[in-house]
Amino acid sequence: MNTADVVIVGAGFAGAATAFHLARQGVKNIIVLERERIPGYHASGRNAALGFSSIAAPEAATLAREGLDFIRTEAAALAGRSIFRPCGSLLIASQENTGRDLRAMLPHLDGGSAWWSADEVFRALPILQGANFLGAVWAPQDGVVDIHALLELYLKGATSRGAQVFYCTPVLAITAAQGQTLEVRTPAGSWSCAAVVNAAGAWATEIGRLAGSPLLPLEPRRRHLFVGKPHIQVDPHWPFVWHADVDTYFRPEGDGLLLSPCDATPHPAVEPTTDENSKLLLAEKLERAFPQLADLAIAQAWACLRTFAPDERFVIGPDPEIQGFLWVAGLGGHGMTTSAAVGRLAAAALLGEKSEELGWFSPARLVQRGS
Ligand SMILES: Cc1cc2nc3c(=O)[nH]c(=O)nc-3n(C[C@H](O)[C@H](O)[C@H](O)COP(=O)(O)OP(=O)(O)OC[C@H]3O[C@@H](n4cnc5c(N)ncnc54)[C@H](O)[C@@H]3O)c2cc1C
Repeated sequence: MNTADVVIVGAGFAGAATAFHLARQGVKNIIVLERERIPGYHASGRNAALGFSSIAAPEAATLAREGLDFIRTEAAALAGRSIFRPCGSLLIASQENTGRDLRAMLPHLDGGSAWWSADEVFRALPILQGANFLGAVWAPQDGVVDIHALLELYLKGATSRGAQVFYCTPVLAITAAQGQTLEVRTPAGSWSCAAVVNAAGAWATEIGRLAGSPLLPLEPRRRHLFVGKPHIQVDPHWPFVWHADVDTYFRPEGDGLLLSPCDATPHPAVEPTTDENSKLLLAEKLERAFPQLADLAIAQAWACLRTFAPDERFVIGPDPEIQGFLWVAGLGGHGMTTSAAVGRLAAAALLGEKSEELGWFSPARLVQRGS
C-alpha cells in the first residue's frame, strides 16, 4: 500500500490548480491520478479558451477576475512568456431586459468595462453590420488563453515541489480505512491517504458515489465547438463576441473563427461524439445573430461536456458526510478562467479554512433533505 497526504482524482483544471496551490502551501506528498494518458484530455483541453469575466453571478465573476489576473501576471512570469491574448470581449444584447441585466453587471466587472451602443460596436467591429442589437458590454480585460500552457504550468508548479502525477490510472474504488484515512484503489496500486479530492469533471458524481457521498448528482451537458472560415476577412485582433439573446459566440482562430451554438444537452458521463444537428443549430443562430457569418464553411467540429450542480454554483469544499473527501467540481462553463481562484479555494478548504466565500460553494447545500 502506498501512502499520500492527498490524492487528487483528475488532471484537468480543477485537479491541476488544486495540486498547484496545495504544493505552494507546503503540502508535500500529493498524488494526482488521471485515467487518460495526457492531462486535459476532456473539457480542460478542448474548451473555447475564452478568458471571460462578464458573468452574472457576482461570486463566480469575482473568481474569474482573480483567475484572469493570475493568467496575465503570475502565469506569464512562470511560463516566461505571455499565455494570454488581450483582445477584450463584447457581450451583446438585442432585447431591452437583457440590456438591463448586462448593464447591471458592470459594477462587478473590472474598471474599463463599459456599455457600448450599437453604433459604437459597429464602429469597432464593422462585420457586425446587419446584426440587430441594442448594445453590448465591452470588457477590455478579457482575452484568449493558451489553455495547454496554463494546465502544464499548474502541473509543473506542483511536480517541481514534489507532487506526482500518474496517467492511465483510473480510480476504481474509494473506501474508508483505519484511523480516519481513505484508501484509493487503481489497477496500478492503492494509496492510503488523509484526503481525497474529487476533481473528476463530468465523472465527479461517479467518483462521489464510489466514496459513498450523499450529494445530488451533477449534470454533464454536451456543447459543440466549430472552426470555420467565413467569406469575409478575419482580423486576428477582433475581440470575442457573445450574443446573449441568441446565445452563440465566435472568436478569431488562425485565419478563421472558432464558434459555438451554445448547445447544452444533458449527456451521460461518457466522451461525447458530434451531432450533425448542432451544425444546423449553429447556422440558424448565426443567421439571426451575425448575418455576415451565416455562409461560414465549417472545417472542424468537436463536442465536450460542461458539468453543473443543480443550482449551477461551483462545488468546492468538504463532503458533508465522508470525512477527508473534498469536491472541486461543477465548474460549468467557467472552469478554465476561474481555475487559479478555484485551486486556491480548494487548497484552503483542504487545509481546514472556513470563509464566507467557501460557504457559498459548499457541497453541503447539495444534500437532499427528506420532505
Ligand atoms: C465546449 C466547451 C467550451 C468551454 N469554454 C470555456 C471557456 O471558453 N472558458 C472557460 O473558462 N471555461 C470553458 N469551458 C469550461 C471548462 O473547460 C471546464 O469548466 C473545465 O475544463 C473543467 O475542468 P475539470 O478539471 O473540472 O474537468 P475535466 O477537464 O473534465 O477533468 C476531469 C478529469 O478527471 C479525469 N477522471 C474522470 N474519472 C476518473 C477516474 N475514475 N480516475 C482518474 N481520473 C478520472 C478525466 O479523465 C479528466 O481528465 C468550456 C467547456 C466546454 C465543454
